[in-house]
Amino acid sequence: MKIPEHPTLIRRMRDSRVKQLTPRGPVLAGSLVQIAKHCGRPGCHCQRGQKHVGWYLTRTVAGKTQTTYVPLTLLKEVQGWIQEYHRLKTLIAEISQLNRELIRTEVTQRQRSSPKSSS
Ligand SMILES: [Zn+2]
Repeated sequence: MKIPEHPTLIRRMRDSRVKQLTPRGPVLAGSLVQIAKHCGRPGCHCQRGQKHVGWYLTRTVAGKTQTTYVPLTLLKEVQGWIQEYHRLKTLIAEISQLNRELIRTEVTQRQRSSPKSSS
């Protein structure tokens, strides 16, 4: 994202992102991974090396990875929830960056308009 120098333009960029900050559907934090596992059933083919491959949702909670099994019937839907989460997360990060830039611009302009006030 390229940030303009003028506060009016920064505000315009920020406000257009604020307008997009509306969920289009459910959100879900985490990422999807494929994991191959042994099931533990005696005599199952997975004991001869052909493991069961399934989709899992992983997320990190207090430094530990939490894993949730995702059945195939929900996979498409879950992908959509995660995508929406990332869209909003990106918008929030960009709005925060633009707001930090606005604060900086305000400080710079004050210093310019009152040169004698500084030591
Ligand atoms: Zn098995």
